[in-house]
Amino acid sequence: MIIGARDGLNCMKYEAFFADALSQLRAERRYRVFADLERIAGRFPHAIWHSPAGPREVVLWCSNDYLGMGQHPKVIGAMVETATRMGTGAGGTRNIAGTNHPLVELERELADLHGKAAALVFTSGYVSNETGIATIAKLLPDCVILSDAYNHNSMIAGIRGAGCEKKIFRHNDLAHLEELLRAAGERPKLVAFESIYSMDGDIAPINAICELAQKYNALTYLDEVHAVGMYGARGGGIAERDGAMHRVDVIEGTLGKAFGSLGGYIAGSEALIDAVRSYAPGFIFTTALPPPVCAAAAAAIRHLKTSSWERERQQERAARTKAVLTATGLPVMPTSTHIVPIMVGEPEACKAASDLLLSEHGIYIQPINFPTVPKGTERLRITPSPYHDDVLIDTLAEALVDVWERLKLPLKARPLAAE
Ligand code: PLP
Repeated sequence: MIIGARDGLNCMKYEAFFADALSQLRAERRYRVFADLERIAGRFPHAIWHSPAGPREVVLWCSNDYLGMGQHPKVIGAMVETATRMGTGAGGTRNIAGTNHPLVELERELADLHGKAAALVFTSGYVSNETGIATIAKLLPDCVILSDAYNHNSMIAGIRGAGCEKKIFRHNDLAHLEELLRAAGERPKLVAFESIYSMDGDIAPINAICELAQKYNALTYLDEVHAVGMYGARGGGIAERDGAMHRVDVIEGTLGKAFGSLGGYIAGSEALIDAVRSYAPGFIFTTALPPPVCAAAAAAIRHLKTSSWERERQQERAARTKAVLTATGLPVMPTSTHIVPIMVGEPEACKAASDLLLSEHGIYIQPINFPTVPKGTERLRITPSPYHDDVLIDTLAEALVDVWERLKLPLKARPLAAE
């Protein structure tokens, strides 16, 4: 095919828009580069980094496969066995291809996990929030959504998609939430919030929020993406840990983090779940999760309902990591969760620290820059797993101190042992 001069010019013009957009990201020091990694099943958190100089073994310190379940023999076994029996794909949307049986079992497992009548699985946690929130709010006449200021992008997308009025309450601020609930009057109200905010590692006062919702007759929608599998006696999340599961109307979660697989879900009442199943475009018009993926997720959920070892060990490892890093004077942000953020406060330094850790120390920690966090709060986000042993933690501390010194980043004054 001969491309005419006009086509060529058009092409160049279009390309320039994309190139300009990328230049802007580079100028703002927030152009993202992904490390080319290959995890080694059975040796979590070790992985191969396909570096520009060739393959090299590294240690992962920022995976959201929080409990290493993506490599658990039961989970791998379920996936392989199901793929061998049923093949790979789901064969289309559920409307076209029906529901594959492992998906039915997975939804039962999830409803049981959260003590709800029903659950509905989507292709990701993002899609669950985006289409779930939008659909629920659209089904409530003249609904107003009250949304925590720190809610994840997927919840914001869902709120936008709802097209209804929204009010933002200051992060975890009960007084502000109450003010907005009172002002909303008798209209249907949906309070949307998270249990664990993944970048700061702090926790919502779920019981208190539910009390307010009850007082003002509002529905509650809770994102437990960073808590399911890891908190509560059976891994039902912070709501389970805090005895609040029955008070939350809709619990949303992911299968892609602590459950080591892929997909997302909501759990709630029979009618609410059936309505979302019947009306949500992000459910209706997309291919269902493949049977092996569902079977793997169900195996992880089942295992974590009865095994507390992973949860307890993760908490203990996170506590040790925080203690060791804090003792070196690194600016560890205090959290009451498994998330260990270290503040850098500048995008270039954050990227440089991450690059040095990988190239010099074989440690992978992705830099967290805007828009994931506000400008000026760029950070390294560390997620210790049950499998990060003492040697790995001590090596991490030494590597971070070396990087901090080389980049002349500020360390906090260390307490004197004798005082
Ligand atoms: N909700 C929160 C709070 C998240 O951090 C994420 C990020 O991954 C999601 C939802 C989306 O979940 P998933 O990764 O399964 O799409």
